[in-house]
Amino acid sequence: MINISKLYCGLAGESDHLRYNKRNDFGPIAVFNCTKKCNLRCQHCYSSSDKSLNDIELNTTQAIDRLDQLKEANCPVVLFSGGEPLLRGDLFELLTYAKKIGLRTVISTNGTLIDERTAEKLAGVDIGYIGISLDGPKHLHDKFRGVDGCFDKTIAGFKNCRKYNIKAGLRFTITKDNKDFASEMFDIASDNGIRRICFYHLISTGRATEISDQTLSPQQTRATIDNIIAKTQQFVTKDQIDEVLTVGNHADGPYVLVKMQEQGHADFEKAKELLMINGGNKIGEKIACVSWDGSVYADQFWRNYCLGNVTEKRFKDIWYSDSDPVLYKLHNKDKFAAEICKSCKWFELCRGNYRFLGAGISDENWVNEPGCYLTKEEITK
Ligand code: SF4
Repeated sequence: MINISKLYCGLAGESDHLRYNKRNDFGPIAVFNCTKKCNLRCQHCYSSSDKSLNDIELNTTQAIDRLDQLKEANCPVVLFSGGEPLLRGDLFELLTYAKKIGLRTVISTNGTLIDERTAEKLAGVDIGYIGISLDGPKHLHDKFRGVDGCFDKTIAGFKNCRKYNIKAGLRFTITKDNKDFASEMFDIASDNGIRRICFYHLISTGRATEISDQTLSPQQTRATIDNIIAKTQQFVTKDQIDEVLTVGNHADGPYVLVKMQEQGHADFEKAKELLMINGGNKIGEKIACVSWDGSVYADQFWRNYCLGNVTEKRFKDIWYSDSDPVLYKLHNKDKFAAEICKSCKWFELCRGNYRFLGAGISDENWVNEPGCYLTKEEITK
C-alpha cells in the first residue's frame, strides 16, 4: 500500500506503526477468504466468487482452527474476505474469537448487506475497520458489480457504519471504464462522510483475467495517479479526508517520489525515508492469504500458485520455511527480482511488482504484474 496522503501531504495514517516500522518481529497481515459465496458477481473478482453454494465451505470449527494458526504465526491482523464474509452465519462468532485471541479484525465487503442491525452487531464486536468496494458512480458501479441497485445498498452500508461509529473506507478498483471517475470518488466519499479511500490497480487474476483489456496503459496509469495526488492534496487541505492509499502496484511509491522531486517538494527526503523503512513489495513476507479450502497463497491475488495447505501443515511451518521454491524467491527478492528492477534506482524501496503467473516454477513465469509504468529515465541510476 502506498500512502499518498502520508507521503505527499504529511498526514499521519492509522496503520503507520505497521507500515513504517523498522521492527521485524510481527508476522504477515493475513487475508482470510472465509467463504467463496457472494451475493454479487463482480467483473474483477480475484476469487471468482458468486452465488453458488460451495461444497468446500468451512465449518465454524475449521474456521476457528485457521484463526488459531494465524495467531500462532504471529499475524497482527486478520482481514476477513471472501466471497462476501457477511454471508457467513457464524461471522460474528469468528470475529469475537479472533479478537479474543489478539488478532485485530478487518473486513473486506461489498457493503450491500450492512443494514442497521448488522452495523450494530459489527460495532458490538469492535471491528477494527471495514473496507467497502465502490467502483464508480451509480451507473458504472451497478454494471461492474453485475446487480442493479447495489450502489444504493452500498452507500446505505457506509451510512449505517457511520451511524455506529465504525471506521469504514472506500475501495475503488481502477479500470479503463472508471478511471476518469477516480476524482469524483473523492466527492462521493465526502458527501457520505467517508474519510479513507484505497485505489486498487486491476490485477489479472480470478475473474479479472476476463477483463484484462481493462488494464490501464502506462500513460493512463500516470494520469490517474496524478489526479489522485492532486485530489488528495485538495481534500487534505480542506480536512475532508484522513487517508488515501493505492494498492497493487509498488511502482506507485517511486512515481510519487519522482513527482515530488520534479516539483521540489519540501518533504521529498522524508517520503523517501518512509518508503525505505517500509521496504516495498511485501508479497510472501508481510502479507499472506489463507483460502476457504486451506490453501496458502503469497497474497490474495496469487490464486494460481499454492504454497501449501493448512489442513496438512501448520500455517507457520508453511510460511516460515524456504522449502517451497516460489516462497524462497519471494523471501529473497533482492536476488531474484526482474533484471529491470534489480538495476532500478528505486529498487530498495519498491522491490518490484513480482508476481508468479504460470503453472510451473521456471523463471519465465515471473513477471512484473501489474507492469511498472515509470520511464527508463525515471528508473536509471
Ligand atoms: S523498475 Fe521495478 S523496482 Fe523500479 S520502480 Fe519499477 S517496479 Fe519498482
